[in-house]
Amino acid sequence: MSRLKFKLMRAGYCDAHEHHAIRGGRKKKIAFDAVFALIKHPQEGFILFDTGYTKRFYEETSHYPEKIYANFTKVYINPEEEAVQQLQKLGIAPTEIKHLIISHFHADHVGGLKDFPAATFYCSAEAYNQVKQKNGFAAVRKGLLKGLIPADFDERVYLIDQCKKINNPYFEVAYDLFGDGLIQLIGLNGHGAGQFGALLKTNEKDIFLVADACWLSRSYQQLILPHPIVRLFFESWQQYKENLDRLHKFHKDHPEVLIIPTHCNATSSKIISTQIAW
Ligand SMILES: [Zn+2]
Repeated sequence: MSRLKFKLMRAGYCDAHEHHAIRGGRKKKIAFDAVFALIKHPQEGFILFDTGYTKRFYEETSHYPEKIYANFTKVYINPEEEAVQQLQKLGIAPTEIKHLIISHFHADHVGGLKDFPAATFYCSAEAYNQVKQKNGFAAVRKGLLKGLIPADFDERVYLIDQCKKINNPYFEVAYDLFGDGLIQLIGLNGHGAGQFGALLKTNEKDIFLVADACWLSRSYQQLILPHPIVRLFFESWQQYKENLDRLHKFHKDHPEVLIIPTHCNATSSKIISTQIAW
């Protein structure tokens, strides 16, 4: 059976402290790349997993209370790095993106939603409910910039919870996106509300996009948590720890699967330049 084509790309980055990202990390600033993935399904066509940043971050954080987000997070994004522009360079028009999987609604993952007018958006009910319910400062506290959400989102969303539920021996919650086994959506709650990752069967290998279930590869490899200070803006520390544990076990049993956290440069820098014939 034909499998997926896959390309990892980067749309901007932000500063982070390594000793916050992982316990025992150095007390220095590191770049947190915001990666996203372009996937081609043999029947369903082009799919995006997240979008990374866009310049909209600056517009959306130019005033209070949203400015608080920018005060805490220094973001770097050039226009030519935005997902929509990188795709156009590959000859892919914005309207060719028919499906867009949203891991969670933090601004570094959804900056480009407005650039893909023909896409159906896939996210969990839990994530979506939080976006709908939080406004103003309460939204910013949760890492949400509501101005990044398209006005017609309601009509275009498909809740992951409505997909075909499947059993995954490692994770509590799993769905089969198109019912063909090529894309499993895996519940990775803890970091952001209703976060999901995607386990992909690509032509080369199996790839697991884990979003912010951990930040650095050493976390799932050696089971090392972030600094406890990050609890302040995590949705559930308990669920985060449980899912990191599951990820660690999964990796030990399946070292052949390439696990990609969104912000781990050591992982993404090796694969981001891979060229694909679409
Ligand atoms: Zn993130």
